[in-house]
Amino acid sequence: MISLRDVTKRYSGGVTALGGVTLEIGAGELAAIVGPSGSGKSTMLNVLGTLDRPSSGTVHIDGYEIGELSDAKLSALRASRIGFVFQQFHLAPGTAALDNVADGLLYSGHRPAARRRRAAAALERVGLGHRMDHHPHELSGGERQRVAIARAVAGEPALLLADEPTGALDSASGAGVMSLLRELHAAGTTVLIITHDRDIAAGLPRQVRMRDGLVVADSGQPDLLAAGVG
Ligand code: ADP
Repeated sequence: MISLRDVTKRYSGGVTALGGVTLEIGAGELAAIVGPSGSGKSTMLNVLGTLDRPSSGTVHIDGYEIGELSDAKLSALRASRIGFVFQQFHLAPGTAALDNVADGLLYSGHRPAARRRRAAAALERVGLGHRMDHHPHELSGGERQRVAIARAVAGEPALLLADEPTGALDSASGAGVMSLLRELHAAGTTVLIITHDRDIAAGLPRQVRMRDGLVVADSGQPDLLAAGVG
């Protein structure tokens, strides 16, 4: 599903955010990305999600090498195959939950009525069928994150990338969001979650640990690391 090979990312100013990352994520995996602040987790997620191109190395998503795709083709791949969830929800204020989710399908090629129908189905799926007309400020943090997850999965992406999805939530709401992400995984979506929460990370089938822009441990590829390749 995803393969990174010797991926580096340097920012102007001389910061090396990724120092040569090699990582394989199989279709249908559920994995945690952990590591201290500044270790390159978000940068790696952005590269995995095609939001950012690497400085060197290769990235394959779903069989495509992203270095060979134009920006337009990359956007199309992202829109059809990848959903994103962020710590701060990133919902449009003053916009009903249904429209927040439907607007996420603007580039899906569906007509407005079909976008609203799919958005409604996605909100039902995350347990918010009774909150479709509510604006973000009328929803709890946990409900807002559910709307954001509905928006991320309304287009039925194969890959869901979540950057600290429970970071702004109390533990009960966070647990609800985690069980929703597990349900999506059980239904076939590949899910990668950046988390600072040790309990959450320990409860996921695979943990990828980063430090100083490198993968320093990976429970899914122990042999590779033992060989000094990771
Ligand atoms: P993490 O998600 O683990 O906290 P990041 O991937 O956000 O780490 O950051 C890795 C390093 O890259 C940090 O030193 C950070 O300051 C730097 N960095 C991240 N984004 C940018 C940017 N847009 N421009 C310059 N430096 C950046």
